[in-house]
Amino acid sequence: MTGIKLTVLIVDDTPENIDVLSAVLEGLGCELMVATSGPRALELAGRRRPDLILLDVMMPGMDGFEVCRRLKADMSLAEVPVIFVTARADDISTGFAVGGADYITKPINADEVLARVRHQVERQVLLRDLRDANRSLEERVRERTAELTLANRQLRVEINERRYMQDRLNYLATHDFVTRQHNRGALDAHVSELLARIQRQAGSAVFLLIDIDQFRLVNETCGCIAGDELLRQFAELVAGALSRTDFFARTGGDKFAVVSEDPSEDGGAALARQIHQHISEFEFQWEERAFKLAATIAVVRIQRDIVSFDQLMLMADEAAYRAKREGRGAIVIHDPKRSAAEPHRESINWALVLFDALKQQRLRLYAQRLEPLAAASQGPVPLLHVETLARLWDAVRGKLLMPTQFIAPAERFHLITDIDRWMIDQVIQLLAEVPELHPGIGQVAINLSAISVRDGTLAGYVAGLLARHQVPGRLLCFEITETQAITNLQSATGFMQQLHDLGCRFSLDDFGSGFASFTYLRRLPFDSIKIDGMFVRDMDTDDVHSGMVRSMAEMGRLLGKPVVAECVENERVAGQLRELGIDWAQGFAFHQPEPLTADLLRRWVGVGAVAQQPV
Ligand code: C2E
Ligand code: CA
Ligand code: CA
Repeated sequence: MTGIKLTVLIVDDTPENIDVLSAVLEGLGCELMVATSGPRALELAGRRRPDLILLDVMMPGMDGFEVCRRLKADMSLAEVPVIFVTARADDISTGFAVGGADYITKPINADEVLARVRHQVERQVLLRDLRDANRSLEERVRERTAELTLANRQLRVEINERRYMQDRLNYLATHDFVTRQHNRGALDAHVSELLARIQRQAGSAVFLLIDIDQFRLVNETCGCIAGDELLRQFAELVAGALSRTDFFARTGGDKFAVVSEDPSEDGGAALARQIHQHISEFEFQWEERAFKLAATIAVVRIQRDIVSFDQLMLMADEAAYRAKREGRGAIVIHDPKRSAAEPHRESINWALVLFDALKQQRLRLYAQRLEPLAAASQGPVPLLHVETLARLWDAVRGKLLMPTQFIAPAERFHLITDIDRWMIDQVIQLLAEVPELHPGIGQVAINLSAISVRDGTLAGYVAGLLARHQVPGRLLCFEITETQAITNLQSATGFMQQLHDLGCRFSLDDFGSGFASFTYLRRLPFDSIKIDGMFVRDMDTDDVHSGMVRSMAEMGRLLGKPVVAECVENERVAGQLRELGIDWAQGFAFHQPEPLTADLLRRWVGVGAVAQQPV
């Protein structure tokens, strides 16, 4: 049956009956409790719950039925099975009615008692096992539930972390570190999406380009920490003037942009005025100083005729340029019809012409040879020196455009770095085509604009190209103008050092035009000096100019650097230069710039054209 000892309570007012029942049950190995009255039985049962009760029906005072009723009414005892012990057959139904489980008839028959008691005991044991099984099952379910809850919670934490990291990455990729506003990349994406939408569904929006007027002043007089703080406060200020649906971004430097899809009747002018109002009420404080701010705002209406972000930026830049000319704090609305009738039209055309030219490969590589003057400064065979010059093919007018026409607009529209890189690409590729000529080449000069010199990635770009095409760096010379070098002293020095390490050389272009001090010039690691053509061209007729060329030649000697004179247009000038001990001459008197090709290089180096005596 079971290893656990069961407790049986025998209730009878006749002690002899108790004895008989006890004797019968002894063989079952149960623990017995006895009571001789109903109240006593309830008390015992309450104190220690029996597993089975044998209950006499006929007892004085409280009979067995009443005892059973009370047991069943007690939550803790209701489950204890009761077997009535009775002499009367008609008690049986009452016994079941009050909750009895079975009955035993008097006189007591041992076998019957054993059989019925055993039955109840077995049932009790089974019930208990079932209860135990249920309990452990419940426990396991509870444990699993707890585990699941924990796993779930962990999963949720992980999901949240992942989502947070994803959001953070997205945020960093699309926001500006200083102002926490959107960056140029995000603006590009937003505008491109908007333009596509406008192409499909019509509609219009306005684009505002905001340029802080005194940013450089603050940045230079108070330092870049103040500059950053100004940008942050300025961004907050402008953001405060916008509505929630406006898109706001920092496009770089001290420029911000707003895209508003909810333009007022006047196409953005009201919004620009509102931003101006906010700015005019603001004062930037730094340490003891206070700066009143102003900003130039260019407004462009975004319509179907604008097809790309770059095009939009060019238009906005053009309007901003016009706004700057109108003075501090101006608002200029870009109006294609009005612009067309104005002299500024040239500049708009330039923006688009340049933009297309770069895309359609309409730049041309030209070169002009330098002529050795002072044989003393050369080796036994003077090596080929050339300066490359950019040209632009104007397909519409069918003619070549000169750098004097397009370099300034290219700088204004930030396209100059593309032009400079294009020239560098072409020169290096060309040199890679003719490795056999390398020993005969002294240097190929490439002009660089200030913006390229400031571009921190250009030196690495050149290094990469030289390595890829296996072209020795010593073949390249970069020409940087005096003013560019001085105004970007820091970046120019770093840039020059990096490229010097690769063997590249530097020439100080347009020397004399900027009147830079000798001390400054000494600080920059130039390898040669190029006297500005404006002094050379007419030095045979202008005494002041010839005097200046003389002192510049002197200066070159003091610095220990070879000197080149450009714009040598006639033999008289060439003769004077020779007398002054100038090393190289460059000009129409010797050579007109022409397209630079591998064949031309072969002709120059191969036939020994360089070795010919100067005119
Ligand atoms: P630069 O560096 O001073 O170049 C010399 C300019 O003088 C060239 O004009 C050349 O054609 C011209 N020249 C040569 N010999 C004579 C002469 O005997 N008389 C006269 N009057 N002029 C002569 P170009 O090609 O129009 O270039 C003008 C300027 O544009 C260059 O001045 C240079 O600063 C810039 N430039 C040219 N190509 C590039 C380029 O690829 N990148 C950059 N950033 N600037 C360039
Ligand atoms: Ca030059
Ligand atoms: Ca020059």
